[in-house]
Amino acid sequence: AITFTDVHKTFKDKEHSVLKGISGTVMQGSLVMMVGPSGSGKSTLLSMCNLLSAPDEGSIEVYGKDISKWTISDLRKKVGIAFQSAPVIDGTVRDNMMLVQKLHGKQDIMPEELCALTGLSPDLLEQDARDLSGGQRQRLSLARTLSNGSDLLLLDEITSALDATSAHEIEQLISHLHKERNKTIIWVTHNLDQAKRLGEEVWLLMNGVIVEKAKTETFFHTPVKAETKQFIEGAF
Ligand code: ATP
Ligand code: MG
Repeated sequence: AITFTDVHKTFKDKEHSVLKGISGTVMQGSLVMMVGPSGSGKSTLLSMCNLLSAPDEGSIEVYGKDISKWTISDLRKKVGIAFQSAPVIDGTVRDNMMLVQKLHGKQDIMPEELCALTGLSPDLLEQDARDLSGGQRQRLSLARTLSNGSDLLLLDEITSALDATSAHEIEQLISHLHKERNKTIIWVTHNLDQAKRLGEEVWLLMNGVIVEKAKTETFFHTPVKAETKQFIEGAF
């Protein structure tokens, strides 16, 4: 569903390239956990899938079409992105869930269904979004990500700021969306235990290259690269 071909990225004010030739395919319906040290380029790679920035070299295809050929609004109906910070706008939970409609005049999935999808109580719809707990806020953020009907989800450390219980609930929600709603997922995490439990595949990014890309079982038990072993053992 999404294919990276030799993707490079350098930021103007930086000496070194952030991404130095990323290639790989995330198949329709799969769940890839992306891990790697801080600064290795994970967020940069995700942000390019949603046209938040563009590769300098190489290409990214979404459903077989180069992302530079998608209009932003069409692409964002296919690709949803969610972050650790789970930002909310002023207003009610419903206002937050209707943001896509407000911005684009059309939205595929309405608040009541988004509540059902994300496990948020519909009783919360008329509440001020700023009063939500961290876990509820992340559910709201995911609801917004889902509201344009996208079936490719890019998740950037969405449980990092949550307590263990809320993090676990979000994990269950994502598993559900993956298994029951057929969402294709790239999930960036620093939590290797989470990657091990939930990933079908794990990609390790270091210094802008993919060091290893393997089925989860293989990645953790019989990795090929020495760097992967060191990374798993906590050396990075
Ligand atoms: P973390 O695990 O800490 O979130 P990451 O793997 O997501 O790290 P990125 O956020 O992709 O890493 O950043 C990779 C590198 O690119 C860093 O050195 C960062 O400073 C740099 N970088 C990212 N965005 C920009 C930008 N807009 N301008 C300049 N440099 C940037
Ligand atoms: Mg990041």
